[in-house]
Amino acid sequence: MKSDNKYESKILEDDIDKLSKNLYLESPDLWIDFTDKINDNKFDEMILFFASKYNFLSIIKHAITNELIDVNLPSKNKSYPTISQHLISVAQQNNSAEIYNYLKSLTDNEDSLNYKKTDDKTKNDNIDNANKDTSISYYPKFICKNCKTNIFDTGFSESEKIIYTYSPEENSVKETSRARMNKISCSNCNTPLENVTLEILESLCSIQNCSKCFTNLTIGGITDKVKMIFDDKINKFIPQSTTYHCSNCDNIINENQKNFFGL
Ligand SMILES: [Zn+2]
Ligand SMILES: [Zn+2]
Repeated sequence: MKSDNKYESKILEDDIDKLSKNLYLESPDLWIDFTDKINDNKFDEMILFFASKYNFLSIIKHAITNELIDVNLPSKNKSYPTISQHLISVAQQNNSAEIYNYLKSLTDNEDSLNYKKTDDKTKNDNIDNANKDTSISYYPKFICKNCKTNIFDTGFSESEKIIYTYSPEENSVKETSRARMNKISCSNCNTPLENVTLEILESLCSIQNCSKCFTNLTIGGITDKVKMIFDDKINKFIPQSTTYHCSNCDNIINENQKNFFGL
């Protein structure tokens, strides 16, 4: 492994070792995948995703400074325009401040090459806004049972069935039909995800949908339930607290949804 000096390469080796142990605990399959990639010196988005998650700056720096990855390329996770944006978001969610600052400084440098640099105040405002946004806004979640990552972060894929036939006119194979298979897999560990479709995942992105049965609450309706407690003094039940539920499946409406609907 190439690195600037012995001291840095020792830190890197130790960090890879620690990350490897973390991943082994998360999932042995994931750990095998990770070990194979490290042995091939392949520092891809998945490796850097976990380095961001577990706050190992040396791994991120190693991959970027030795140009083992171009973080300006599009992310496999469609929610982010670039790998860098994806890693920044992971670092932010996991409070990996060093990584967040490092990646931010890279993108800021990049920006300053392309555009006139915005003054520091605007930059800080942007960071503040970004922090605020993730703390109050709704974030969809679907955890892969195998690798335990949120597939909205790590990505998911849908398979397609494409049928080809031979075309004598063109003297080659031609695509004759293409159909969605409606089979979703976790992009991180390649495990097929049961009982979920692209439509369900899309509906989860909307705060208006029930997180359990995916019904649009503005169409299916909600039910309020008032818990009554008995008051001995007046010999009557009096209301104590109210909860809101999906009318279709009775699943409780979460805090984000309550705020959104002003309940
Ligand atoms: Zn997975
Ligand atoms: Zn429901």
